[in-house]
Amino acid sequence: MKILVPVKRVIDYNVKPRVRADGSGVDLANVKMSMNPFDEIAVEEAVRLKEKGVATEVVAVSIGSAKAQEVLRTALAMGADRAILIESDAEVEPLAVAKLLAAVQAEEQAGLMILGKQAIDDDSNQTGQMLAALLDLPQATFASKLEVAADSVTVTREVDGGLETLKLDLPAIVTTDLRLNEPRYASLPNIMKAKSKPLATRAVADFGVDVTPRLETLKVTEPAKRVAGVKVADVDELVAKLKSLGVAA
Ligand code: AMP
Repeated sequence: MKILVPVKRVIDYNVKPRVRADGSGVDLANVKMSMNPFDEIAVEEAVRLKEKGVATEVVAVSIGSAKAQEVLRTALAMGADRAILIESDAEVEPLAVAKLLAAVQAEEQAGLMILGKQAIDDDSNQTGQMLAALLDLPQATFASKLEVAADSVTVTREVDGGLETLKLDLPAIVTTDLRLNEPRYASLPNIMKAKSKPLATRAVADFGVDVTPRLETLKVTEPAKRVAGVKVADVDELVAKLKSLGVAA
């Protein structure tokens, strides 16, 4: 069984984002970029399934600028077999990403597609769901455990009230949550080996998908600064303070 893993290059999760002075978006100049953390979890899960002999091939796909090759090389160093870059210098919104991934799936016929539950740059949490709708395939979002059988996958997913277990027929779409696994670091020999693994570059036009943006960003602002707290000496002072603020009667 082949597994397709879409990976997005995003601002590194350790970086504190700066908003551009004109409020048009986040400033990405000279900022460290990395693979979206939920996608690392997806790659890890796919590679573990290959190591267990459940999957035969792991294919990583990214839609983005030529620099997205970096995250594809990381996926290859983690254990993916080959990679596809669909090159676009313009930002591609989740619906268009889902349409491109649907077109890749039409060519690849993977048995399982594992995506991140969300990309941490835009926090959209849309692509997996839209992809499932476009392909009319079963989906399980926010997976914290996966068990693959011959023609189905059993997914434990994190929901508000606890855990829910779903059984999906393959092919299926799964999106990862944080607790699914702890992704490995690529070792130096594997980083070297990844350099010679196949990475195909394709154009958006190859897939006949209209990626014209449908959304317009009106304004991006920094979150409001938190006001410093006040220390109180005892409960009486706390109650008095709350009363003076009108929070307690
Ligand atoms: P989102 O819906 O944007 O929050 O993204 C959810 C997931 O879709 C990500 O974790 C990736 O697995 C996949 N994805 C989104 N954008 C891209 C992209 N440009 N290239 C590859 N995969 C993507």
